[in-house]
Amino acid sequence: MKSQEIRSKFLSFFEDKKHSIVPSAPMVLKDDPTLMFVNSGMAPFKEFFLGNAEPKNNRLADTQKCLRVSGKHNDLEEVGYDTYHHTLFEMLGNWSFGDYFKEEAIAWAWELLTRVFKIDKNILYVTVFEGDEGDNLPMDNEAYDFWKKHISEDRILKGNKKDNFWEMGDQGPCGPCSEIHVDIRSAEEKAKVDGKDLVNMDHPQVVEIWNLVFMQYNRKANGSLESLPNKHIDTGMGFERLCMVLQGVKSNYDTDVFTPIIREIETISHKDYGKDEKVDIAIRVISDHVRAVAFSIADGQLPSNTGAGYVIRRILRRAVRYGFTFLDKKEPFIYRLVDVLSEKMGKAFPELKSQKQLIQNVIKEEENSFLRTLDQGLILLNRIVDDTKSKTVSGEKAFELYDTYGFPIDLTSLILSEKGYKLDEEGFKKELQKQKERSRAASEMSTDDWTVLSEDAEQEFIGYDALEANVKITRYRKVTSKKEGDMYQMVFNLTPFYAEGGGQVGDKGYLEDSHGDVVYILDTKKENNVIIHFAKNLPKHLNETFKAVVDSKQRYRTECNHTATHLLHQALREVLGTHVEQKGSAVHSKYLRFDFSHFSKLTVDELRDVENFVNARIDGKLPLEENRNIPMEEAIAQGAMALFGEKYGDTVRAIRFGQSVELCGGTHVKNTSEIWHFKIVSEGAVAAGIRRIEAITNDAVKDFYHENNRAYFEMKDLLNNAKEPVKALQNLQDENVNLKKQIEALLKDKAKNIKGDLKSQLTDVNGIQFLAKKVDLDAAGIKDVAFELGSQFDNLFLLLGAEQNGKALLSCYISKELVESKELNAGQVVRELGKFIQGGGGGQPFFATAGGKNAGGIEEALVAAKEFVK
Ligand code: ATP
Ligand code: MG
Repeated sequence: MKSQEIRSKFLSFFEDKKHSIVPSAPMVLKDDPTLMFVNSGMAPFKEFFLGNAEPKNNRLADTQKCLRVSGKHNDLEEVGYDTYHHTLFEMLGNWSFGDYFKEEAIAWAWELLTRVFKIDKNILYVTVFEGDEGDNLPMDNEAYDFWKKHISEDRILKGNKKDNFWEMGDQGPCGPCSEIHVDIRSAEEKAKVDGKDLVNMDHPQVVEIWNLVFMQYNRKANGSLESLPNKHIDTGMGFERLCMVLQGVKSNYDTDVFTPIIREIETISHKDYGKDEKVDIAIRVISDHVRAVAFSIADGQLPSNTGAGYVIRRILRRAVRYGFTFLDKKEPFIYRLVDVLSEKMGKAFPELKSQKQLIQNVIKEEENSFLRTLDQGLILLNRIVDDTKSKTVSGEKAFELYDTYGFPIDLTSLILSEKGYKLDEEGFKKELQKQKERSRAASEMSTDDWTVLSEDAEQEFIGYDALEANVKITRYRKVTSKKEGDMYQMVFNLTPFYAEGGGQVGDKGYLEDSHGDVVYILDTKKENNVIIHFAKNLPKHLNETFKAVVDSKQRYRTECNHTATHLLHQALREVLGTHVEQKGSAVHSKYLRFDFSHFSKLTVDELRDVENFVNARIDGKLPLEENRNIPMEEAIAQGAMALFGEKYGDTVRAIRFGQSVELCGGTHVKNTSEIWHFKIVSEGAVAAGIRRIEAITNDAVKDFYHENNRAYFEMKDLLNNAKEPVKALQNLQDENVNLKKQIEALLKDKAKNIKGDLKSQLTDVNGIQFLAKKVDLDAAGIKDVAFELGSQFDNLFLLLGAEQNGKALLSCYISKELVESKELNAGQVVRELGKFIQGGGGGQPFFATAGGKNAGGIEEALVAAKEFVK
């Protein structure tokens, strides 16, 4: 059965059981600060489990793109070495939100695997939670009894908290789980060792394929568990592993999910898969990583220097390194795999197709720059080896190479062993540990449980219509971090505060109680669909009604920038073409930033056209037309393109100004005329094929012109109020160039004269042509003269002193022949004479210089010089 068919059979099976099929959420979620990437099927549905929102159907099924490369679930180092862990994989899931529970989940999983997919019962094992004393939890007898109906009891195994109790993080919904494992070993091997003994023992052919999680508890900050009011089902089946079983192969990489990519790598690298373990690992690494990187870029997460972008960069670099070392690929090639990938997976994940060009460009650029790093690293590593006296290279040096230059440590140790050197691995690990501790200490954060003041209150956002409201606090908690110290987070029953989202910053403002006491709201953010207000301290009387007031000036400026961002987007598509897609935006009160796909620098004309286009819409006084709360599905049906970080269940809002229509949850001006004026302040590249424009509106434009005007008049003033300042400046520059040329010529003349002068003053001291003299030249001039004279004599001893800006300079030249025959050393001469000028210096035996504070000491030094040739 082909993988495409396996995926659709899974989905249609659950569709028949009244589940709505929803598309995969993007891997980077909008409002979940606790997660860098979606690492399991349940992550996009957290708000449903937490009860912050309600799904339209309480039965859903999907395939979710997951990435396990950071945080609690990190499989990166396994990938390539084993045959069943990936960085990016698809997790097939069926979901019940307070609807069916263990009985149906178990029965349907069994039906699907054994009847629809016809997997032999005799290769399956299931596990149930055995209970845990520490958490005071009994064994999951319910699950055991339901399983008994389907599978013989000797195939039901009991598992501990580590394998059979699922938690998404340190806090939040959790519960016991039942895993389904397959044993795909040969009959011979099965005869030798019982499959039972290999379950959850990291055997590559006795692997978990499906995990059924029974969410029934909530883990609190203090570690204790409370029962959830509604019980949920969360299941996750590894799609690639299922394909392995159904296609009768022993490795995920032998399924049709991977073989086309692997064939392509073989063609490009002229290496065969399946002959040499090292090459095989490299091929698996590359075929896996190209998927992770391509999907991330398609989801809007570009490689970068920090955060999630850095994780993506590291994955790609890992692939480049394996190609570099084991496939001998010294030029970019991974980007060439994107063609096959998008052809194979573009149907299920259309974003791969629509963004193919961009994905290829970004990967190629990254490959190029990392290959340059590798080249540079090799040079540095050679230098380190040359400087190493023993046969062991220090861990600190290797760490520096790794940390500062991004040179991979395993490559370092490989190259060293090839050269017959060893790496001090302990030393390296120590440095790495130190760095980890530094960054952990910096990012450590603790979050208390919510203190709930009012249970039933639903939260309402009224900030599109109001900037003030009377509100009640429904819950609050303390969060403590190294960076910001103690902060309080508050949730209100209703709020005019806009939470950071869609690129727009969160509102600031204050809460005021009836006694006039004020607490400032410093920021507003959304977490799992709840709007959270941040403050440095709590109000005194928490149960009062407060006047909540948004900082209207900041909000207004931000709105001008947000509306301008929409107009800019429209302008770019109009002026440059419809290949322009939004790749990110930041809307602040002071400026706006817009990233978009486009392949070349914007010309001056294009920039002017874009500005004019936006300003024409501002002059056109276009009114805001708003359509609130249409479901995302409806918006998609109306032709809205893939949205940034939106997922199933989100309701969206359509914002129209004239011909510009965008799905946007942000706040906007009522009429474009309020923006007053739009001005681009910079344009540049952020990555291959991605450009960034920064622009300002309204007051910021006024300030901008004001500032420019001031600078202009100051400049004019300096130019004696010239009528045509540009011309005057040009003249001044021309004049300056001419003067510089003249000075250079004069200096050359002077040096020539001095040279002749000095030559005539040489005296013979013990067969040495000697001269110690003060000259009026700079350091470069002195060097010139010394070398010029040096080339005419083979027994020259020259000490030249000079005074420059009150400081002293001594330069000593000694012919090489003298250095050898008389054991003279210019470096030593200037070091010794340096004491007269209160300074020091050094250089080579035949030429050295010293600088010092005391110009008055030059004469003494010149006199003392004679001592050296006596
Ligand atoms: P394992 O012990 O094999 O790492 P897990 O316990 O981490 O699996 P879950 O977190 O329960 O797995 O995820 C549910 C399912 O997703 C697993 O049963 C497996 O089929 C699949 N899966 C988990 N991690 C990966 C991965 N890195 N690559 C591919 N599939 C995976
Ligand atoms: Mg795992």
